[in-house]
Amino acid sequence: MSARLDDYFTARDRGALKKRGITSVADLFRFFPRRFLIPGEKTPLGGLPLGETAILQAEVISVDTRRMQKRRGTITDVVVHDGRQSMKIAFFNQRWLDNKLVPGLTVVFAGKVEEYRGQLTLNSPTWLNRDEHDEKWTPEDLNSPFPVYPRVKGIAQTRLWKAVKVLLDVADPEEFEDPIPATMREHLDLPDLRTALNDMHRPRSAEATNRAKQRWKWEEALALQTELVSRKADYAQLEATPLLKVGDRCERFDRDLPFALTPSQVTVGEEIAHDLGQNTAMHRLLHGDVGSGKTVVALRAMLKAVDSDSQAAMLAPTEVLASQHFDSIERLLGDQMALSPLLSGDDQVRVALLTGSMPARERKQLALDLATGQIDIVVGTHALMSDSTMFDELGLIVVDEQHRFGVEQREALRAKAGTRVPHTLVMSATPIPRTVAMTVFADLDVSTLKEMPAGGKDITTHTVSLADHPQWLGRVHELLAQTADRGEGGFVVAPRIESSDVEDPETEKVEHRIGVEELKEKMENAEELSSLTIGLLHGKMPTAEKDRIMKDFVTGAIDALVATTVIEVGVDVPRATMMIIHEAERFGIAQLHQLRGRVGRDGRPASCFLISNRPETDESFDRLRAVAGTLDGFELAEYDLDNRGEGDVLGASQWGGSSLHHLAILRDAAIVEAAREYAEKIIAVDPGLRSLPALRRFINRVLPAESAHFIEAS
Ligand code: ADP
Ligand code: MG
Repeated sequence: MSARLDDYFTARDRGALKKRGITSVADLFRFFPRRFLIPGEKTPLGGLPLGETAILQAEVISVDTRRMQKRRGTITDVVVHDGRQSMKIAFFNQRWLDNKLVPGLTVVFAGKVEEYRGQLTLNSPTWLNRDEHDEKWTPEDLNSPFPVYPRVKGIAQTRLWKAVKVLLDVADPEEFEDPIPATMREHLDLPDLRTALNDMHRPRSAEATNRAKQRWKWEEALALQTELVSRKADYAQLEATPLLKVGDRCERFDRDLPFALTPSQVTVGEEIAHDLGQNTAMHRLLHGDVGSGKTVVALRAMLKAVDSDSQAAMLAPTEVLASQHFDSIERLLGDQMALSPLLSGDDQVRVALLTGSMPARERKQLALDLATGQIDIVVGTHALMSDSTMFDELGLIVVDEQHRFGVEQREALRAKAGTRVPHTLVMSATPIPRTVAMTVFADLDVSTLKEMPAGGKDITTHTVSLADHPQWLGRVHELLAQTADRGEGGFVVAPRIESSDVEDPETEKVEHRIGVEELKEKMENAEELSSLTIGLLHGKMPTAEKDRIMKDFVTGAIDALVATTVIEVGVDVPRATMMIIHEAERFGIAQLHQLRGRVGRDGRPASCFLISNRPETDESFDRLRAVAGTLDGFELAEYDLDNRGEGDVLGASQWGGSSLHHLAILRDAAIVEAAREYAEKIIAVDPGLRSLPALRRFINRVLPAESAHFIEAS
């Protein structure tokens, strides 16, 4: 007999279960208790520990449900007695308890002991009816860990628990087919699936439950790594045209470069050159700190493609970024860049920018030039992926910002290359901690720019609490004025365009949150800044105006540029030596580091001020101090990972829709690493997972549909 959720839950229940991600028996089996209460001695009502969790057994004396006076809903008062003493327990909005908790029943309650009007009470306890006939509920259970499930609306803990226990007995054998291969399980001494599920839902000992918990991590790590290893193996099968040099544009570029490449740039350049020469497609991730020189590396790779009579495309997530990349390339190439396809010299490089907002006519011409091979390098946004864009011979794709480009988009672009696929270089704007590279990007080969170009940066970072030192803002302004006097520029950043007043739900205090428009006005009225020309830049301004303002700032016609985070990425303003960030606590660590990376770009000493309206004792200052404490982006990325919720890491990545719940990337790094070895062995002998259908099913179930890689045999 096949057991289904329908047999145990009403349509309404199933709706509630679905909200918790449970749509199958397998999901329900993996809906684990949030925690376990360890009963030990049952507590007499007289000795309940305030503030702690207690389990007690008592007889129901009376049950009374009434409407609450001040709030909507009902309150059910249950008076219980343990033979010596009585107490009142309140349940909210559970009026059906009237029929369940009838006087005379002996019930076990478990919950947190609280005080209400001088009396001890339990706060919405879990309860079990000891008298109800249930062969799974034995006196022994009282001495075993007691599962507390996450709340599911409308389904009492007891009912949920009971359904799980019955299903564990009657479910199809298939439900217990283990995704973890037997040899691996034995090797690691992990419980099999059925045992582990029982140890979660029918715990016999804390030790067994803990062993089961380890198992779930291994299972997820194996699923993730098997998927990644398999993808990598597939990439290795994709035929590409080996990009073997015939021209010498890259050599000429290197010769004309006004600086020497860093050792990392050289090494990474060699790694890429090696990959490009293969007849299988490169899939490489390039990452490094802000300012480590990724653009130069990417451009050299593109020049190598061009030297091999191929085209290269660089894909950016936004128009602003695309045009910034275009500008950087233009600057780096200098007179090696051809102004137009028609006016190009022999060893010149024809570079074009393609964005969605381009006039249709220009776009058409560009599409034609691309299709006929008149353009060597194209920089663009998603527009590059539209059906109307065709290439003559696309050899290399550089994708900027891995976070915003899923596997799907990569595939779409690749489809443009016909039978052979182009080589792919994925660039990350920020450094990626090793553990994340290993988990989230493990289908790619990884190249790291480890050091910064000569001398590195000389930036001093200060944190400023205006709550504690309101007068320091004037001091910062004076420093800004001195900066302008030296002919240097300063950025002033705020998180939003328009100011707003927001009420803090906790303190009910109204907080004024400043936007760049008001900030500029305030600065113009500040006496210390009266000699400065102040500009404004934000994303809602027309492109032409943005360009004009930016140029004025670059030339020095503007001393201080008040801006939103539009300036976060790209924009090279060598004369900028001061970065002032208001409401710095509103930004993430990586963002603050990016913003700071905008100054001190030509080696001059620079400063960065992280300003907050909060007191120095506020938790948010930990983050600000971390940023102030180091210029090393790798260190900050690790710190960030350490202090953010683990879920964020997978959540922000291509695994966003996954149901990987147990794996913690940082804490479980060793498991992730070891699981990779198992995955590699598995894929080496059985790339389609034909002999491991349970693992295949599990991967398809827990990884998001769009990235599921193992096709179910139909
Ligand atoms: P990233 O994209 O990694 O943040 P960029 O590629 O924009 O860094 O480089 C930052 C700045 O450093 C640019 O002005 C670039 O021209 C310069 N640069 C890159 N490589 C070197 C190098 N080896 N020596 C000196 N300057 C370099
Ligand atoms: Mg860059």
